[in-house]
Amino acid sequence: MEKRELTCIGCPMGCQITVELEGTEILSVKGNTCAIGDKYARNEVIHPERTVTSTVVVDGGDKPRCSVKTAGNIPKDKIAECMKAIDAVRVNAPVKIGDVIIENVLGTGVNVVATRNIHTVA
Ligand code: SF4
Repeated sequence: MEKRELTCIGCPMGCQITVELEGTEILSVKGNTCAIGDKYARNEVIHPERTVTSTVVVDGGDKPRCSVKTAGNIPKDKIAECMKAIDAVRVNAPVKIGDVIIENVLGTGVNVVATRNIHTVA
């Protein structure tokens, strides 16, 4: 039996959670204060995922870069590759919050979207 110690990232309380598992079968989840922690711990030990945040270069804008993020979580083991894909992108101003910057990044089914507005330089 394997034991994994986790810190829940669901809220600032940061509950310490212990998961006992046998292979991919979860035997117990302890230490969480709420159901969010239970869900987080089960996902984290079997299919860890994260939201990725970064910036992309903008041409012709009032700011040189635009902040972006994945619109949902992607597998943790694809984060480095996702960052590379984001680094390779240049966009033209204007950019609006929510604009899709990369569609279906790395085939994850998740889009990378803009999180700020960039106006064109007058
Ligand atoms: S288990 Fe619940 S209360 Fe504890 S850190 Fe996670 S979300 Fe917050």
